[in-house]
Amino acid sequence: LSERLSGVFDRLTKQGALSEDDVKTALREVRVALLEADVSLPVARDFVKAVQEKATGQAVTKSVTPGQQVVKIVHDELQNVLEGDNEEPGELRIDNAPAPILMVGLQGSGKTTTTGKLAKRLTEKNGKRVLMASLDIYRPAAMQQLAVLGTQIGVDTLPIVAGESAVQIAKRAKQQATLGGYDVYMLDTAGRLQIDETLMQEVEDVRDAVNPRETLLVVDGLTGQVAVEVAEEFDGKIGISGVVLTRMDGDGRGGAALSMRAVTGKPIKFVGLGEKMDALETFEPDRIAGRILGMGDIVALVEKAQETIEAEQAERMMKRFIKGRFNMNDMKMQLEQMQKMGGMEGVMGMMPGMAKMAKGVQDAGFDDKMIVRQIAMIQSMTKKERANPQLLQASRKKRIAKGSGMEVSDLNKLLKMQRQMSDMMKKMGKMGKGGMLKQALG
Ligand code: GDP
Ligand code: MG
Repeated sequence: LSERLSGVFDRLTKQGALSEDDVKTALREVRVALLEADVSLPVARDFVKAVQEKATGQAVTKSVTPGQQVVKIVHDELQNVLEGDNEEPGELRIDNAPAPILMVGLQGSGKTTTTGKLAKRLTEKNGKRVLMASLDIYRPAAMQQLAVLGTQIGVDTLPIVAGESAVQIAKRAKQQATLGGYDVYMLDTAGRLQIDETLMQEVEDVRDAVNPRETLLVVDGLTGQVAVEVAEEFDGKIGISGVVLTRMDGDGRGGAALSMRAVTGKPIKFVGLGEKMDALETFEPDRIAGRILGMGDIVALVEKAQETIEAEQAERMMKRFIKGRFNMNDMKMQLEQMQKMGGMEGVMGMMPGMAKMAKGVQDAGFDDKMIVRQIAMIQSMTKKERANPQLLQASRKKRIAKGSGMEVSDLNKLLKMQRQMSDMMKKMGKMGKGGMLKQALG
């Protein structure tokens, strides 16, 4: 895929901003990448459309191609969608002991294994006392499986009593958890190979009996489209609070994660990465985004290019400052930077060495409103005047003051400040290898 992509990218022309054609061409390949990663067709289509609107017109970083830039935008958007808002992956609501966690999903999806993994994590990482119970009354071996896991990881399991219904076991688990002072009790439900009514009814009854704090759907991350249908079905009937994607250690590219997130809107909390009890990780949108796209190298390249350019700009600016070439363009940039950082107060708080000077400036009547006016005055200057403020003699000053609705005396203050800053930069530059200036510039 990477090769095919670079072919397309090479054909794209280098321009300042992404044209609609650039974006379209690159996105066509991105769509293929998404489908190859098992993202469902409607989700891929919607996603690409959203990115197209965002990307068109965006600036292209020097030294990368438009196509590469698009991939970076796609990656960031992918990460965004996967992340959702205000959700901490890996966090579970387990206050109000004993907190019930209901594990649901198809047979073979990894429910029992994940129950064990999560119980281990809650015990070891969160210091919780956990009780596990198997509600799989159809397969005695399944109950045994959980008991064995419990012994292996040192987590208690509810004693097996023959002949009980799933709801009866759930109620007994709740009672035992309350009496035994457990923080959490986990209910590992039975699964079928396909969704069926009896099963759903049973899970609903269990849900109503214990009112779970978390209902986690366990799905096989390799099943793509099927995983999404399962998620919709369970969410509609039972109501899920989160998803665990298993078998993410396999070859699959994990497109199910995106579809699932887009379709159900439910957070993906964990991913299963193997059969062992510690093969469970917090869901990381960044990593999965790279995996779905399969273009991690391109994303890294664009990031590097952007960093390099920022560093180059800073360095160039520093060199000019040291030579005492701090002109009105620089002044304007500094003023705008100040605005961005939350005005005078914000800046003062951030630059320890500058606090004294900033105070002096403020005492001289320089406040946040003043920043706006000063920018206006600089905007009234011609290009030449900005680059060489010493050109500003009486008639030019009058013109600028008039153009920005200020007095010549205001303009004189601005000019004085620019000279002072220019001098200061020069001095700072001489004080050893630009150390202090580097600090001041951040
Ligand atoms: P259940 O029927 O939903 O309870 O599924 P199980 O927990 O019994 O798991 C079915 C099979 O999948 C077992 O062989 C597990 O070891 C395996 N399994 C579960 N999670 C993972 C995972 O994240 N990666 C891999 N490779 N195998 C897993
Ligand atoms: Mg099971």
